[in-house]
Amino acid sequence: MDTQREIDLENGLYIAGQFCDAADAGRFEVIDPATEEPLTSVANATAADGRRAVDAAADALPAWSALAPRVRGEILRRAFDLIVAHQEQLATLITRENGKALPDSRSEVAYAAEFFRWYAEEAVRNLGQVSRAPSSGARILVQHKPAGVSVLITPWNFPAAMGTRKIAPALAAGCTVVVKPASETPLTMLALAPLLEEAGVPKGVVNFLPSRHSGLLVGAMLEDPRVRVVSFTGSTETGRRLLRAAANTVVNPRMELGGNAPFIIFEDANLDEAVAGAMVAKMRNMGEACTAANRFYVHEDVHDAFVERLAKEMSSLKVGNGLEPGVTVGPLVNAATRDKVQNLVEDARLRGAKVITGGMRLPGPGYFYAPTVLADVPEGALCLREEIFGPVAPVQRFRSESEVIARANATEYGLVAYVYTRNLSRGLAVCERLESGMVGLNRGLVSDPAAPFGGVKQSGLGREGAHDGLMEFLETQYISVAW
Ligand code: NAP
Repeated sequence: MDTQREIDLENGLYIAGQFCDAADAGRFEVIDPATEEPLTSVANATAADGRRAVDAAADALPAWSALAPRVRGEILRRAFDLIVAHQEQLATLITRENGKALPDSRSEVAYAAEFFRWYAEEAVRNLGQVSRAPSSGARILVQHKPAGVSVLITPWNFPAAMGTRKIAPALAAGCTVVVKPASETPLTMLALAPLLEEAGVPKGVVNFLPSRHSGLLVGAMLEDPRVRVVSFTGSTETGRRLLRAAANTVVNPRMELGGNAPFIIFEDANLDEAVAGAMVAKMRNMGEACTAANRFYVHEDVHDAFVERLAKEMSSLKVGNGLEPGVTVGPLVNAATRDKVQNLVEDARLRGAKVITGGMRLPGPGYFYAPTVLADVPEGALCLREEIFGPVAPVQRFRSESEVIARANATEYGLVAYVYTRNLSRGLAVCERLESGMVGLNRGLVSDPAAPFGGVKQSGLGREGAHDGLMEFLETQYISVAW
């Protein structure tokens, strides 16, 4: 399938409604992780292009923010319809640049589109408040105004959804945006540009800047006082850097950062459901998800049965080029990610962990790693502290509820946790004691456009999705009124 022609993809920068070259005419290659061959090249935005894109977004802001919310909502709704109509082409493109298997890519496109539908509905729900001041006699009138030009920076693991989860609420709020997609996977966002245009998004409201000069490009944009929001999804390390850069012009930071999710299985859990949930929480996206289960804590009474069943499921998965029928596990995104996974498994093995299944790179070309289950992983193993970002499930035993909660919370991260038990009141009590922004209780998947997605501790600041996601792109103004 000629994906590029079908969705009219051009590989330039997209500024003020036009595809164009970078200021210095630079380009970089996008690699297919299943073949290690270049797919194509794209324009490589410089700091000067960043300033040009901010100009375009600032010029478009007054008209876009003044549009009736219903009109903005209807444009977003058309964007939803168009993304759904192009699901197969977009999914194929995601598989080609990211590597994930087609079923995962199709699910991602469906999830990505939903943000446009949800925020089409939220665009008309920007509610204010009026109250009477307790003693001054004034009225307190509160309204929420578009924050302004927003810079959106996204990672490679969900090339469509991490963009739409920011673009849709920003547009619903009346903001204009400059999007910097990850340089591993810039094509999916570029493919969105003509669809947004067709939906009726005016020129300059959404601009896309692929770049390998991330630091310089984003730094230049954040120096511009017209930029009022920087919304970032990516690693905690880059998030810390951006928080420092945002301090100079006191830009609102919205941060969706890394995770180290515990997956806790109590002795009374339904094991069939726990294994099915574990497969989703671990293997969606080959483990390349911030929500991926990173540490499995299994009660000693059911530990051996769980490990055996998980290993059986993991070893039955078909690994290969994600475009091939029947494949559910594609390659990892690049050699560095594959090598990191390999090193984490080696480290655990040297410290005494048992490899129950997998535990090795698979022959290339392509950055393939076998679905792996590690048992008896000792406490010092690096894979329990770092994001694995690959198809590896480290399992440990536990005895008591308080012990497992303490171990689950012993991390700087706090994005998501998973709990399996048939006892709902015990489950809810455990959820409350977990230091994480989200918990899956008898569920291996928490992502939902209608729910507030985000972390505590060093997993982030702010929430995406739900009404909360709209509020991230609004500023509160209070007017004291002599009634
Ligand atoms: P990353 O290395 O932090 O990169 C994320 C984005 O930031 C990319 O677009 C990257 O551009 C850009 N970037 C890198 N250095 C920058 C700098 N100095 N200034 C401005 N931008 C910069 O993360 P990743 O490896 O792509 O993604 C994986 C990470 O994302 C994991 O930690 C995962 O947990 C996290 N994540 C979190 C969530 C969430 O919602 N909490 C969701 C998905 C992923 P280049 O591509 O050009 O380097």
